[in-house]
Amino acid sequence: MTLATPPSQAPPVLRVTDLKKHFPIKKGLFSRIHGHVKAVDGVSFELGRGETLGLVGESGCGKTTTGRLILKLVEPSSGDVRLGDSPNLAQIPNRQWLPYRRRIQMIFQDPFSSLNPRMPVGSIIGEALAIHKLAARGEQRIKRVHELLEQVGLNAEAAKRFPHEFSGGQRQRIGIARALAVQPEIIIADEPVSALDVSIQAQVINLLEDLQKQMGLSYLFISHDLGVIGHLCHRVAVMYLGKIVEIGPGTALLQQPRHPYTKALLSAVPTIEKEKRRKRIILQGDVPSPVNPPTGCHFHPRCPHRFAPCDKSYPNLAPLGDGSVRVACHLYDPQYKDQLPESFRSSQSSPAVLTA
Ligand code: SF4
Repeated sequence: MTLATPPSQAPPVLRVTDLKKHFPIKKGLFSRIHGHVKAVDGVSFELGRGETLGLVGESGCGKTTTGRLILKLVEPSSGDVRLGDSPNLAQIPNRQWLPYRRRIQMIFQDPFSSLNPRMPVGSIIGEALAIHKLAARGEQRIKRVHELLEQVGLNAEAAKRFPHEFSGGQRQRIGIARALAVQPEIIIADEPVSALDVSIQAQVINLLEDLQKQMGLSYLFISHDLGVIGHLCHRVAVMYLGKIVEIGPGTALLQQPRHPYTKALLSAVPTIEKEKRRKRIILQGDVPSPVNPPTGCHFHPRCPHRFAPCDKSYPNLAPLGDGSVRVACHLYDPQYKDQLPESFRSSQSSPAVLTA
């Protein structure tokens, strides 16, 4: 697994603070609310200019919903989302959303279902230019569509063809061209390569990296695949049951994971390099229901290192060492340093301790 080099320190282009989405569960004739699915439950992070932040976790952990909440494809229950110095996007009315919508675009897992099968590719890309008034009618728009197709490695001639005439990888390139058409600052990529063959995955990832270098784009890269995340992302956030449990630079997080859940995820990544192979950690049980998450740390029923405080209080996402890594786990809380379980002590030669 090669690791991405972090970009220079730059002010964040996206700030997400305490973002929540609790879907009501309605039952009966009068649709009474019987509870809530806490799909996203207090997610906070920043995304720098030219940075790629990976959002990783098992299916159902809330990573896709987080991306959709930022784009207002799903209305947040609460929280704060800001692009640079914009107002809180989570609260602005939909009619004021369009100018901000141009600055943040999405690439989907299945490009075929997100491309209108009745429209030629040139019209699909041209439509985005028209909505945001970025190219006048006629020749100027056609020229811009051709430029965008060539920028993503397709021929200008592709503009006349329909989505079904392309392979999966080519369709993903069309989706990327459509996203680029409005000159965004941020692209949310939701599992953009997981439906593609491995050889095509590498081509699309290389394209995304090249575009980032050329245009200074920031990516929120949502994936369950730590191999892809490790290659592409400068920082990584690990989600479990609607919350971030660990966030930090890709190098630190993937080479020295701290949270027991991150360790289990990484132990399942196959590698052909013998010295990098980790002992596989098999977690007990399934991911609990987000309707009634376990008390205390939501991971405690499956955690191989759970100890006294784990089922009583939820650990804060607190900084470790120089503060670049943040982890939500009582194992690193100084107040519990004399109570650490033997299973954890024996796995650590020098346990790291929280700075706060
Ligand atoms: Fe495991 Fe406890 Fe840490 Fe949760 S807080 S991950 S249960 S050790």
